[in-house]
Formats: sequence, structure tokens, C-alpha cells
Amino acid sequence: MTIAQKLSFDVQLSDHARTAAEREQVLTNPGFGQTFTDHMVVIDYTDGRGWHDARLVPYGPLSLDPATSVLHYAQELFEGLKAYRQVNGSIVAFRPYANAARLNRSAARMAMPELPEETFVESLELLVQTDREWVPTTEGHSLYLRPFLIATQVGLGVNYPSRTYSYIVIASPAASYFSGGVKPVSVWLSTEYTRAAPGGTGFAKCGGNYAAAFVAQRQAVENGCDQVVWLDAQAHEYVEEMGGMNLFFVFGDELVTPALTGTLLPGITRESILTLAADLGLEAEERLVSVEEWQAGCESGELTEVFACGTAAVVTPVGSVKGAGRAWTIGDGTPGPVTMRVREELVGIQYGSRPDPHGWVHKI
Ligand code: PMP
Repeated sequence: MTIAQKLSFDVQLSDHARTAAEREQVLTNPGFGQTFTDHMVVIDYTDGRGWHDARLVPYGPLSLDPATSVLHYAQELFEGLKAYRQVNGSIVAFRPYANAARLNRSAARMAMPELPEETFVESLELLVQTDREWVPTTEGHSLYLRPFLIATQVGLGVNYPSRTYSYIVIASPAASYFSGGVKPVSVWLSTEYTRAAPGGTGFAKCGGNYAAAFVAQRQAVENGCDQVVWLDAQAHEYVEEMGGMNLFFVFGDELVTPALTGTLLPGITRESILTLAADLGLEAEERLVSVEEWQAGCESGELTEVFACGTAAVVTPVGSVKGAGRAWTIGDGTPGPVTMRVREELVGIQYGSRPDPHGWVHKI
């Protein structure tokens, strides 16, 4: 058995941290991913030596040689989760070990080193504890945590993965992701572009997946929709996921979500909702869902609601669909009761107004 070497973090506090008044000004209207806290965590990795030089340092620019591997070949991955201030004042993260495990699955696909799960969680704890005043107290707001891993080897050789990496964590106070609050979004079915093919990187949270998605998201907006919905790469027939969120289809008291075929991201919110369904007396199934079934279900009235879920926007109703030569609305286009119940249960666990029967919240 190998015992993971416990890293000790060197702590260098900022001498230019923002004042309480400056911080409060940001927290009044934080937006999403706009302003960052006073510190960040960095841990370096070198082949043969492992993880080293774990440190908490003032937030600031990175200095990278222009030939650094990540800038050319996008050997990069990231995670996203939130710290919440609960109703009793304590600060928690939601299922950080699930993010640690997903980071390591992404790392394996991207030929990058795995980070011990304990180190991942410790890095979040250290950053959130240091910058705890940045965790918003406003209802529905949170501190978004963005861990990421980049290839730092200098050189343009493309035959081998980098031998050096940096793992970094930054944090940003966040309001609601969609500015309209719990307002149904309209979605665009992308048939011109696909996000991921079998054997590709769809299940990994790597930057390249997102770089390739912007053009389709722009097309969605040009067609008057809020978000793009991806279909399978071969037949353009099966629904995969929405821009940065997974999808659920509500058939009366049954929740259906697209199966994890390897081409969509295994969302932690998705998995949590599959577990919560039983607590709420709902059936839940993972299977393929076709565009045809989606439209026919809405037209017959069997498919009553559709919602998207993810860390950033929690649970968001989908109100209307366009694309692939079709257009239709879901229900009457307003948030449905199952969507709102799932949302309230999840938000209740995150903010501590409901019990946490599955031990998902991690006190920081
Ligand atoms: N799909 C994609 C493409 C995403 O970027 C995200 C956000 N991480 C999700 C789904 C939802 O995942 P999670 O519930 O873990 O935030």
C-alpha cells in the first residue's frame, strides 16, 4: 500500500487584500466569475517527484513562457463547485470528493497526473478558510470555486504529455448564474456542430470541449435562444446535454436523464438529483432520449417538464425548443412543480434549511 504523502501548504498572505468596504461593494452585485478573492492555491507537479510546493499566495497573474505546452495543445482540465453560507452561519462545500474523483477521471483521459482527493479537498478548505469573508451572506449567492490543472512544460514537441503541471484554485463570489433567476430558458438544438464523439473527451472537464462549443452557443443566441443543446455526434438524434448543464425530462412522476454514454459530462448535480428522486417519491431512469420523443411527449402532454441542472445555475426550467427544423414549447412554458420541488430540495440541502440525509455537505 502506498501512503499518499501529505503536503504541507506554505502560506503567504496578501499585503494588498481588499478592504471590508471594497469587498462589500463586490458582494452587493457579484455577477458570475467576474471578481476573485484575495488569494489562490498553487501546487506544482514534476514527473518523478510528484506533487510539491503546495502554497497559498496572493491572487495574481501567472508568468508563463510563450512556449508553455498548455497554450498550444490545451492539456488542461478544470472543476467547478461552490461554497455556501448556511442558514446557521457555517460554511460548507457541496460534495467536494465527487469533484475530486471527476478531476481524476478527466486527468486520466488527458494523460495528466492524478491529485490525491484529500489534497484537492484540503486546497479548497485552505482557500475558503483564508477568504471566508468572501462567502456571500445573501440568499441564493455562493462562492464559486474553480480548481484547474495546466501543463507547464516549455517546448512545442507534441509527441508526449508534459512532464510538469500546476494545479491552481481560484474563487469568485457568485450571484445567480442566469440573470433572470428561476426563469425558463429557451434552447437551440445544434445539428451543424457536435460537442463530443465516442472515444473523445466528452466526459472529461477539459477546456477544449468548451473552446469548441462557443460557435454553437453563438448560433443559439443568433437564433433567439438562451442555450445550446447538444445531440449525439452520429445520428443527431439523441439528446446529450445543454451548454454547461445536464438535462432531465419529467414524465408525470418519473424523471428521465440521458444515459452517460461517454460523450456527456457526468454532472454532480445530475447524480445528486437521481439520488434525491427516491426521497421525493419520484421514479428516475437513465436512458437515451431522442429529439423525436421530446417533441412528441410535449405534444401529447406526457412529457410535462424539462429542466437543466448544474453547479452554476442549480436547477433551471427549459421552456421552449428550436432547431433541426422544429420548434415547440414545453408545458405552458412556465416553471413546473416537479422542477421547483427538485430545486427547493437541493438548494435546501446546500444552504442548510433541509436535512442532508446523504452526507453531501462538507463543513469548511
Ligand atoms: N455539463 C457540462 C458540459 C458542464 O460544464 C457542467 C458543469 N460542470 C455540467 C454538465 C454540470 O455538472 P455539475 O453538476 O457537476 O456542475
